[in-house]
Amino acid sequence: MKKLPLSTQIFIALILAIFAGIALTSHASLAVTYIKPFGTIFLNLIKWIVGPLVFFSIMAGVISMRDIRKVGSIGAKTVVYYLCTTAFAITIGLFFANLFRGFFPVLQTTDLSYEASASVNFMDTLVSMFPSNFIAPFVNANMLQIIVASLLIGFALLLLGGENVRDFSAVETLNDIFLKAMEMIVQLSPIGVFCLLCPVVAENGPAVLGSLAKVLLVAYIGYVVHAVVVYSLSVKFAAGMSPLDFFRGMLPAIMFAFSSASSVGTLPINMECTEKLGADKDISSFVLPLGATINMDGTAIYQGVCSIFIASCYGITLTFPQMITIVLTATLASIGTAGVPGAGMVMLAMVLQSVGLPVDGIALVAGVDRIFDMGRTTVNITGDASCAIIVSALERKKAQRVKA
Ligand code: ASP
Repeated sequence: MKKLPLSTQIFIALILAIFAGIALTSHASLAVTYIKPFGTIFLNLIKWIVGPLVFFSIMAGVISMRDIRKVGSIGAKTVVYYLCTTAFAITIGLFFANLFRGFFPVLQTTDLSYEASASVNFMDTLVSMFPSNFIAPFVNANMLQIIVASLLIGFALLLLGGENVRDFSAVETLNDIFLKAMEMIVQLSPIGVFCLLCPVVAENGPAVLGSLAKVLLVAYIGYVVHAVVVYSLSVKFAAGMSPLDFFRGMLPAIMFAFSSASSVGTLPINMECTEKLGADKDISSFVLPLGATINMDGTAIYQGVCSIFIASCYGITLTFPQMITIVLTATLASIGTAGVPGAGMVMLAMVLQSVGLPVDGIALVAGVDRIFDMGRTTVNITGDASCAIIVSALERKKAQRVKA
């Protein structure tokens, strides 16, 4: 029998998980006790591989570029694209939330409480990017620190190499080993998707959505509009790629992100998808891990929608300057949001505080955070992939111009 393509397998797993989840709504504990652990095993394997994978693939990427300036130019393009699309995303979120504010339910706000974690500011985020110990970034799975460490060692190797380029095959061999191990784990993703999604559906049966269905709908409208408009236009005009081909090629990663709600977890599949779509390996191995850590367009949309919703429950109407503040803080907050489930909700506290909204309001949306999260993670990783495609295309054009 011919083997089904991985994307079809993941799709079947997704549909089966939804049906099995609905069938198990009245026995959700069964799904949580016996199915979820296999999803956790799968996610653990991904988390295990992602640290060394990013470390060696960035290093191998830097070495293959042979030029520190090229890394700088790619880094600058990537960060500018990430910041602009995130600011755009939050604007879309605020726009739709204001448009549909009249439809939002007004929920009771007395007796709410939400314990915000210590507030995160920009300087703390900056300092925490730099590791103070060689092993700690891997132990804590701190992606930004792993990226900084691999860049430094990659640069050191380049400088040591000098003119008579040394033999760097050891790094490439290590990179190949981890890529192969990742491929093996990715083959298990249909099982992972089923085991991750089924308990979520079983636990959040349709009734739970209740009064928040409209708020979720508005967030999903924002997600879809942002992906369809911004990513389609940017891959079309900056990389000359048909948006349909882009989204088709991204399907396995999209379905995986939707089920796992983790950008970092989706990283290996995202790398495969973008490379198949024609992104350069050395570029995507740098752009994607960075994006999984600092680029969160879906999270920004969610923060915009939830700020307006929470404000309206408290009977507060946000002013225009307050909305601008939200655009700025949510863009910065997205840099500090880790690519793991639920991180965006923690950062919502920072956004609410910036405009004086009560942080306790987060309790209103916390119950269905996972449903918000599945959509926002999907948008997050699609944004990262669009950047890898665009930067690859721009670098190719630049190389041609230099040759000409
Ligand atoms: N789960 C999201 C991600 O991994 C982050 C968030 O919670 O918004 O991209």
